[in-house]
Amino acid sequence: MSPSSAEGTTVPVLSFRVKKEFQNFSLECEATVEDGVTALFGPSGSGKTTLLNCIAGTVSPEEGRIEAMGKVLFSSSVGTRVPPERRRFGYVSQDAALFPHMDVWGNITYGYNLTPKKDRQLDPGQLIELFQLGPLSTRNVTTLSGGERQRVGLARALATSPKLLLLDEPIAALDWVLRGVILRYLKRIRSELGTPMLYVSHSISEVMALADSTIVLSEGKRLAHGPTSRVLVDPTLSRVAELATLENLFDAEVSSVQVDDGLAELRVGDATLLASDVFAEPGDKVMISIRAGDVILSLDISSRTSARNAIKTVIEEIHPLGQRVLVYTDIGERLAVEITPGSLRELGLHVGQQVYAIIKTNSIMIMEPTQPRPGPGL
Ligand code: ATP
Repeated sequence: MSPSSAEGTTVPVLSFRVKKEFQNFSLECEATVEDGVTALFGPSGSGKTTLLNCIAGTVSPEEGRIEAMGKVLFSSSVGTRVPPERRRFGYVSQDAALFPHMDVWGNITYGYNLTPKKDRQLDPGQLIELFQLGPLSTRNVTTLSGGERQRVGLARALATSPKLLLLDEPIAALDWVLRGVILRYLKRIRSELGTPMLYVSHSISEVMALADSTIVLSEGKRLAHGPTSRVLVDPTLSRVAELATLENLFDAEVSSVQVDDGLAELRVGDATLLASDVFAEPGDKVMISIRAGDVILSLDISSRTSARNAIKTVIEEIHPLGQRVLVYTDIGERLAVEITPGSLRELGLHVGQQVYAIIKTNSIMIMEPTQPRPGPGL
């Protein structure tokens, strides 16, 4: 949570202006980051990691100023440079560099024990519970799977009660299914702990699922910055993002299984969806993916259709983006649908209109391990 200054104004979580030169690359970026999750989005080589490392303190900018919660961490004009370990940030990279000679509990308590008592807000037991690490707590970290390592990495970073969590593509090295699992834990950090996060990603779908606001980088420069839903439809984004692969990544709750021909019923926002291949029990939470291009919009429901999901919804926004049109509909969550300009014209779609979102059961992908059943060990 951002603290308030003596004058009663809210102090931003982070504000920075940095200039960093490498032989063939120049980064020049400034922004103010508020509470919540801020994505640093951009293609490979756009400078995301360099910017994150400047903020972490492991890379020194040539010029600039970095301030977190009102405290100056770096200033080229007055020669301030607070070392990384005193910045009170948590850092998790793609491979969660853990201490190999320690078990899971040792890794998580290490940073906690070094944190002054007055600054401790989260205790290791709470984090073990949040990340479901109880059964693994005495395991040596060298024996863990990729997904388990990332959960320990997140818990270890949070054990220092950081003012800000810096995440450098923490799920990029995981397979598609485990990305869903860890994304769900990241959402829990946001909703249950409220720790602000700066999240580096080159996946537009992850950014849409997790980030409240987004900074778009391209060739070391800021292209756009604002609420994620606005930035995603910014025409400049089509220069750097492949919107054709846009997935809706939702938290779903399994309400019943085997309801009909082996299908399961899932609750997503206000909608009930039928999906196949759900290896979970009623009450379980799973992450699901629905490609924006796999959803069909229809003005009415035909009784002669093989699609099992027809959700009554209302069009919230329509954004023509070149050869495609992005339509946001409201199903209690924001469902992005990709249609063609021709469909938009022929159906005469407009904001506020009631339509049906038609989704085939096998267009709903379950991002959870299937064999064995999901459990704390995965
Ligand atoms: P990716 O998504 O591939 O991780 P990125 O957006 O995080 O990319 P950076 O890793 O910040 O990009 O790199 C930006 C540019 O700076 C690249 O061209 C990279 O080669 C260059 N670069 C990064 N670190 C150094 C360094 N220490 N010396 C020279 N060039 C560097």
